[in-house]
Amino acid sequence: MRLPIIAGNWKMNMTKDAALKYVAELKDKVKDTDVEVVICPPFTLLSILKDACEGTNIKVGSQNMYWEESGAFTGEVSPVMLKDLGIDYCIIGHSERRQYFGETDETVNKKIKAALNHGIIPIVCVGETLEERNEGKTESLLKEQVTEAFKGISDDETRNIVVAYEPIWAIGTGETATPEMANSAIAYIRELIKGLYNDDISEEIRIQYGGSVKPSNAEELMKQNDIDGALVGGASLKADSFSEVVNF
Ligand code: 13P
Repeated sequence: MRLPIIAGNWKMNMTKDAALKYVAELKDKVKDTDVEVVICPPFTLLSILKDACEGTNIKVGSQNMYWEESGAFTGEVSPVMLKDLGIDYCIIGHSERRQYFGETDETVNKKIKAALNHGIIPIVCVGETLEERNEGKTESLLKEQVTEAFKGISDDETRNIVVAYEPIWAIGTGETATPEMANSAIAYIRELIKGLYNDDISEEIRIQYGGSVKPSNAEELMKQNDIDGALVGGASLKADSFSEVVNF
């Protein structure tokens, strides 16, 4: 049985007081859930939220990291720095990073390896644009992204990776993939992983859906066989709506 993981990607939102208030509200609302709960705030809030979540079942992740441990890389944050704060998760290769910040399949692969080397669980984002879907290229795109992301990663390490299938056309648009669409893309990703590794690993690895997940559609999505949780953007910014998704 795969333990569902529901993560909130706050993107570039929230300041200190609002974030502390959020955690104070969220912790009681999600304390009885069976799913793994993660919040991914901006770097500036990681330390303070790691402390605020102490003694709760809320885990804290970052939204990005660099692959080197230290050095002359102005503006970057390393896996060593994240580990220093006790951060256990990192979103890698989000489509917004691919689109606006030059992230490529190659940098995604480097970051996944660096995260795994430092005991950080990567939440690896893949997904197609609307154009790619309309041209029937969803599967070939996913195949390329998944194959490149997992290049050189051993069987044992792969078990720890979380994949997030986020069709770009469903991000922040209010347009969600139907549960069947999401499940079929995720089942395809599982098949790809089976081909790259084996049956056991493909059955073990957790694959989330992301893209306009909200309280009203979470249950239907989570009921699908291959969907093991969600990566939630907009609806994760309020403790109320995020807790409703978590408690789908
Ligand atoms: P929305 O839930 O706002 O569509 O964002 C999804 C997302 O990008 C999560 O990483």
